[in-house]
Amino acid sequence: MRTAIVVGAGVGGLAAAGALVRSGWHVTLVERGDRLRGYGAAQFIWPNGVAALQALGLSLGDVAFPFATGGIRRPDGQWLVSSAPGVTGGSTAGEPVVVHADDLHDTLMAGLGERLEIRTSLEVTTLRLTGDRPAVGNAKHTFDADLIVAADGGRSVLRRRLAPEASVASTGYTAWRAVVPWFRSPAVQANGEMLGAGHRFQHATLGERGGSASATRGGIYWVATVPGAQRPESPAAQLALLRRWFEGWQSPVPELLEATEPGDLVQQPGEELRSLPRRFGFPVGSGAVVLLGDAAHVAAPALSQGACLALEDAATLAAVLRGGAPLSSALDGYTLARRDRVARVAKASRRLGSVLQAQGLAARARDVALGVSSGLLQRASATATTWTPPA
Ligand SMILES: Cc1cc2nc3c(=O)[nH]c(=O)nc-3n(C[C@H](O)[C@H](O)[C@H](O)COP(=O)(O)OP(=O)(O)OC[C@H]3O[C@@H](n4cnc5c(N)ncnc54)[C@H](O)[C@@H]3O)c2cc1C
Repeated sequence: MRTAIVVGAGVGGLAAAGALVRSGWHVTLVERGDRLRGYGAAQFIWPNGVAALQALGLSLGDVAFPFATGGIRRPDGQWLVSSAPGVTGGSTAGEPVVVHADDLHDTLMAGLGERLEIRTSLEVTTLRLTGDRPAVGNAKHTFDADLIVAADGGRSVLRRRLAPEASVASTGYTAWRAVVPWFRSPAVQANGEMLGAGHRFQHATLGERGGSASATRGGIYWVATVPGAQRPESPAAQLALLRRWFEGWQSPVPELLEATEPGDLVQQPGEELRSLPRRFGFPVGSGAVVLLGDAAHVAAPALSQGACLALEDAATLAAVLRGGAPLSSALDGYTLARRDRVARVAKASRRLGSVLQAQGLAARARDVALGVSSGLLQRASATATTWTPPA
């Protein structure tokens, strides 16, 4: 039986581990956290992410809720792009669904099956690229396998070793996300998106207030993006800052921030990988190491595509390995199928981010341009969502 070690139990690692188990591999999943959990409040999963889940034999079922805003407004409520295709409005490229991070996590966990070894509280610090098979480990343990899947996120220690040419850079903005549970949330039903000078706010309903039993993690998800670096203050002080920055914005922005508690907040820096790794697969003796998810490519968050791309990676890896294909040809197939694709999405997301987060005069120019044509938004989301799973 072929053996694999998957490092990192985020969306990418869980999806890859499940796919390998279902293909008959013996898989060990290694995570530095003390338990496996969902992270990031909630996620937009675009049609390409849904297609990748389907290719992996998984489905979000009734924990995914449609997200359409009908357009984008200014902080004063005026429409910038009204009832027209937009980044998150109805577009020819399709609309995303929104899913609670814990529900996405549960979906991926359900796909793991039972024939898998899970090691938590184990931080990988070493990678051995000599000998017949690759190995990972730390000061105490070393584990080797036919295949190592590096799914250890944007700050991947494994990528640093395999592809030192790729480095993480700031996009110049920071995001905060939260899910306000129904019992605390203001009376907002609709989804929405607003753009100010440098500031962006999106909100999406996770099910209905008092809705079906399946919406156990129901509420209102919001994402606020603000220029500048991460804030070192306590979550309570960060929340106070957010309330100040978004003061005077059209309802329901202030109400949602008022209903948010410090413990709901997830702060994340906007980052991207400048110069992608030259390849995503590395032969080692008769074995191999592959980079997957944010470990391979971190795209600026403007298009909300990172988790979807990680799911695409996992579906592609499963496809190239299908039928016991030799690892060397599978590696080439994996890089070929993924590198150009993620480079295109990363570029579109970077461009879109610089437009959406424009400040000062550039923001005014953006507002005029968006009022005339929402083509940029449509093109960016079409680039990202147009993807067919490999046969
Ligand atoms: C503000 C914001 C909003 C976003 N919204 C969306 C969205 O709506 N939709 C979407 O598709 N994407 C979105 N993304 C991107 C998405 O969250 C990420 O791309 C995705 O989570 C990447 O998954 P991953 O599994 O590759 O990495 P991660 O989620 O980072 O998981 C890596 C895992 O590896 C573990 N790990 C790390 N190092 C080690 C080590 N040395 N040893 C062992 N374990 C290790 C970590 O603990 C973690 O569990 C957003 C990103 C941001 C910043």
